[in-house]
Amino acid sequence: MNSGTLYIVATPIGNLEDMTFRAVRVMKEVDLIAAEDTRHSRKLLTHFGIVRPLTSYFDHNKTLKGEYLLDRLREGASIALISDAGTPCISDPGYQLVRDAVAAGIPVVPIPGVSATVTALSASGLPTDAFTFAGFLPNRQGKRRERLAELRDEGRVIVFYEAPHRLLATLADLREVCGDRQVVVARELTKIYEEFVRGSVTEVMARFADRDVKGEVVLLVAPGTESVTPVDPEAILARYLVDDSLSFRDAVDRAARETGLPRREVYTRALAMRSGENP
Ligand code: SAM
Repeated sequence: MNSGTLYIVATPIGNLEDMTFRAVRVMKEVDLIAAEDTRHSRKLLTHFGIVRPLTSYFDHNKTLKGEYLLDRLREGASIALISDAGTPCISDPGYQLVRDAVAAGIPVVPIPGVSATVTALSASGLPTDAFTFAGFLPNRQGKRRERLAELRDEGRVIVFYEAPHRLLATLADLREVCGDRQVVVARELTKIYEEFVRGSVTEVMARFADRDVKGEVVLLVAPGTESVTPVDPEAILARYLVDDSLSFRDAVDRAARETGLPRREVYTRALAMRSGENP
């Protein structure tokens, strides 16, 4: 028996007019639609008059449900995978299913449409010839700074997804770890209150300082320029190591936070400095 096809279907990120004709047609024709949140997606399907069986596929059931979906595909069923918004697999569930379908020789067909990354980038005014998509930064500040430090020398625009309540904390970390870069905050894309806030990190932070940041946010960061002073871990460590009010461990912790470097690395440098060696 011939296997069915797995369709990866993009859906709007706010404005239902961004649904494509092809997405509607494919979803009307498949045997099953796998959605991240069935309740959320049912509204979309109702709006477009799509009446097909719906099942869930999300991060916590993806292993078991993935097996079930692969079995159905092998039996000849065609399946459309959608996420809550935008393109599945892009900071959304789907990658494992696509990987396993490809390995099983099942045809995988993308039905392209909106993704917040490209939508934000296209109107950002930042260079778009090449860019780095970095997804979500870690929640915890230490890890977030480590990740930012890893990206400090990236020569292309970096695109992050960010939660609104973390935006200001992330901008503060960005300024400390990477310098006062040019950034763009693209908020509520394709919706009524769509907004692009452009400027240096300091200027953008000032624009958001006296209001609650609401809705959905993409943060775009321009590459550093010559004027950004590179972080000098030894100079920062030296400042903390000579502070008598701090233990060695506290000095290392603070330097790790300020530089954004992994604590282990800062600790090794601090030991070398204490014993008078070059790290
Ligand atoms: N797969 C989706 C895509 O292709 O864009 C992204 C899913 S990810 C779980 C959700 C994140 O995308 C949000 O936290 C936000 O950073 C970004 N996002 C989604 N819709 C957006 C919108 N309308 N405006 C701005 N950012 C949006």
